Amino acid sequence: MPGLWLNGTMSPTEVVTSSPEETMEVGRQLADHLHPPVLVLLSGELGSGKTTITKGIINGLGVAREEEVTSPTFTLVHVFHNHVRVYHVDLYRVDGFHDLESLALEDAFAEPAVVIIEWAERFALRTDWPRVEIRLEHVETDRRRITITLPKT
Ligand code: ADP
Ligand code: MG
Repeated sequence: MPGLWLNGTMSPTEVVTSSPEETMEVGRQLADHLHPPVLVLLSGELGSGKTTITKGIINGLGVAREEEVTSPTFTLVHVFHNHVRVYHVDLYRVDGFHDLESLALEDAFAEPAVVIIEWAERFALRTDWPRVEIRLEHVETDRRRITITLPKT
């Protein structure tokens, strides 16, 4: 799936993967195009592959192995400090702005970083960082449609 989303336009790029490994590979390839500061907004229902593509992104950035990337469902935020700072956030269990503020996401935005957010559709985040939007949808059991919109350059 080389260079699929680099079509030189603002239009979303769509790819259908047939396994978790393929979805991770999409994440790894996307990582080459992520330069801090950047926000990666992941949307899609439970089990659509948000954590799976994040494993690929974080692995592609060279900050952790796939197995070191786990869902922050209960912890809400995982931080990887390496040659790039990466925040992996899950808003699924965050209720309302009170909780959102307790996440102290200002820390994430204090310095250039890659901030990856699962369930991004749940809250509007106040930041003017460039946004990569990734929408994941179930097609069949092991197939997922991944739609990626890159920021304007
Ligand atoms: P989410 O974070 O969106 O809730 P996960 O990434 O945690 O989703 O889970 C996705 C589940 O779907 C995993 O169990 C994974 O093995 C399975 N799966 C099956 N096919 C795919 C695919 N093509 N891409 C991603 N995950 C897949
Ligand atoms: Mg998840």
